[in-house]
Amino acid sequence: SVAAEKPSLTVRLCEPRGFCAGVDRAIQIVVLALKKYGAPVYVRHEIVHNKYVVEGLRSMGAVFVRELTDIPDDGQPVVFSAHGVPKSVPAEAERREMLYLDATCPLVSKVHKQAMRHVRLGRQVLLVGHRGHPEVVGTMGQLPEGSVVLIETEEDVAAFEPAGEQALGFVTQTTLSVDDTAGILSALQAKFPELQAPSSESICYATTNRQDAVKASAPGTDLFLIVGAPNSSNSKRLVEVAERAGSMMGLLVQGQHELPWDSIPPNGTIGMSAGASAPEILTDEILDALRARFDVRIELVQTAIENENFPVMRSLRDTPLTAA
Ligand code: SF4
Repeated sequence: SVAAEKPSLTVRLCEPRGFCAGVDRAIQIVVLALKKYGAPVYVRHEIVHNKYVVEGLRSMGAVFVRELTDIPDDGQPVVFSAHGVPKSVPAEAERREMLYLDATCPLVSKVHKQAMRHVRLGRQVLLVGHRGHPEVVGTMGQLPEGSVVLIETEEDVAAFEPAGEQALGFVTQTTLSVDDTAGILSALQAKFPELQAPSSESICYATTNRQDAVKASAPGTDLFLIVGAPNSSNSKRLVEVAERAGSMMGLLVQGQHELPWDSIPPNGTIGMSAGASAPEILTDEILDALRARFDVRIELVQTAIENENFPVMRSLRDTPLTAA
């Protein structure tokens, strides 16, 4: 007697997917700080939006806190998350003479600089982004209160009336939907023809590339799995992109335990990608779980090659690695 044959399943696997250079750097900073300074290393907020990553670092001795006030004066370092922080945070760390390591992604820092440049040139800043996201809090916190207006939707564009004759400039969050943002920006440009763009695009390469690959692979899929956390902005955008590009259903999953078995049709085709903060091991575990039930055929859909690498700060680069 032969075991019943497994039904087949085609998995369109997106490339690039998963970790971006900014997330990779932020995790390295925590790991190297633990090597150099020993535990505990405090980390303000989730270093990146992924429970698996956070738990892994916690088990190595990282202590996650909400605010600097939650950290005792014990001389141990604090790391700021990849999303960036308001200026008040390093200022407070300096006041308390804390040793801090800023893991803000260089591409987020670039947006901060563009926003400050607008203000220096006398412009009011419009920030296109999602209220409450740590990156938005960090970008708004680069500038004096009242100089940044948050725009979340095209309705916000319609409702916004600038005070007086002040010139306007915009920046955006790095992880937005490329298509939604294009809509909001064209509404802004139609209403304010003099609106000044930042000198380079705010949405980052990783966001753009992951969305492009999902767009290319989504048409006709029965389901599109995005590995990522519910608080990960770029992962949520990938779910939306998949559905809009023609997948029957987009779904965010944190790991194989969340696989929606009833929605995976035998002999069907699904798409799969992972947000910029989702480690590859979670994708591997999901593929293994799928292989246990289906005869899986992988179709790689590659739309870009990424070579970005953001080095950690010099003070950590020179850390002699302890022999394993
Ligand atoms: Fe940097 Fe983009 Fe990654 Fe955010 S998603 S950490 S901006 S590379």
